[in-house]
Amino acid sequence: MKNNKDKSILIFGLGESGKSTFKYFYKKYNIYIWDDKKEIRKNFVKNYNAKLKNFNDIIWDKIYFIILTPGISLKDKRLEIPIKKNIPIYRDLEFFSRKIDKDKVIAITGTNGKSTTLALISKILKNTNNPIFSGGNFKPPLLDALFKKKYFKYVLELSSFQLESAPSFNSNISILLNISEDHLERYGSIQNYAKIKKKIFVNSNKNQTAIIGVDDKFSKKIYSEIKKNKKNVIPISVNKYLKKGIYFNKNTIIDNYYKSKNLNIDNYKTNFILENNKMNVLATYAVLKTMNLKKDFFIKTLNKFKPLKHRSQIIHKSKNLIVINDSKATNLASTVHSVKSLNNIHLILGGKIKSRNYAKLIELKSHIRKIYIIGESANYLNKKLNIYFDCEVCKIMKTAIRVCLKDIKNYNFSTILLSPACSSYDQYVNFEDRGDQFIDLFKKFVNK
Ligand code: ADP
Repeated sequence: MKNNKDKSILIFGLGESGKSTFKYFYKKYNIYIWDDKKEIRKNFVKNYNAKLKNFNDIIWDKIYFIILTPGISLKDKRLEIPIKKNIPIYRDLEFFSRKIDKDKVIAITGTNGKSTTLALISKILKNTNNPIFSGGNFKPPLLDALFKKKYFKYVLELSSFQLESAPSFNSNISILLNISEDHLERYGSIQNYAKIKKKIFVNSNKNQTAIIGVDDKFSKKIYSEIKKNKKNVIPISVNKYLKKGIYFNKNTIIDNYYKSKNLNIDNYKTNFILENNKMNVLATYAVLKTMNLKKDFFIKTLNKFKPLKHRSQIIHKSKNLIVINDSKATNLASTVHSVKSLNNIHLILGGKIKSRNYAKLIELKSHIRKIYIIGESANYLNKKLNIYFDCEVCKIMKTAIRVCLKDIKNYNFSTILLSPACSSYDQYVNFEDRGDQFIDLFKKFVNK
């Protein structure tokens, strides 16, 4: 890239991807930075010798383009002026896409299961002993891929935020796992949210491959649309027969797309809950077949694969108790997904509310013994749920665990599940912090 020091750009948001973006651009442009958190701004200026510009002081006509962190919406009021002035706003994905050979890119999106699928696909590809870049929404950030040697493949987890501002994005294999209600505060409706998710196929040409979960109506609709113009579109389903697709029948993968032999996944040999991960496993299998890799790699990796932290992570297992940390369940669909595969559940739920329709959870009433409600919306959630469930407002995690451990003494077998169906920002730094505190508190109570 040529030196453009006479041009200024603004990096808005200085988290992991902001840092990586700064490192990528600092020799090429005059850079202004901004982050809403004062501490982060201060540290950035100190560590990176960057120029801080107060938002109100920015002379927009001098800004060549803006790079926006995935966490900030395009609807943010402060972006109204630059948008009006037609100043381009990109995410890191745009610059990644301009540089990297599209034939080497495998991209994953969906409401739930992205990180797990990324980890599964990356693990299998790494077993081929080729250098693999694995990152994106899940660390490391995308532009880190441009600093080092060339990679054999780039496996990317992409959020809707990344997809909405990357016009050059294209990938050889694109995966859409599922679409359910999430981030509606940003997109207004699930229809708009689905439109952004569809962008994973936006520049996709006829010969590239699309792998699409068809178990929800929004993804299914996208499947029908994409199929009209593309050759290699593989539908996948965790429970539906597909005449020309790949699906699960109980624990067996039936491959009617590549017409491969049935493949039984032995749940006793895997370290993760297969029921919760069937879609992720199917997507991984479809990638492997598309790349013509051996099935041995697949089974070996599955048997060794440990679930990522905070995603249906079993933290205790004994004859009469299982304790599961599913703190990453920040929307109702992921909580419902976990509840479905478990029984005798004492569910810790709540936080910063995202969904107001709990019908899908209510359908699973027979799986849940009691709900312990935490977080800023505890009273609201209690009102919504206590008609159907035995509920107790606990407000904080410590109380929830204490009450829960007392309650389970009345039963021979119980499952304690932290699966909040809400984001964590009302009481925690993020979902990792929430999950870690849950684990610590549980251990403290048990060792008392
Ligand atoms: P993402 O990166 O899309 O947020 P994760 O793999 O981190 O997905 O999982 C997020 C949450 O969704 C966890 O609670 C996990 O148990 C649940 N989950 C994982 N895979 C799926 C899936 N295919 N469908 C629905 N929920 C899932």
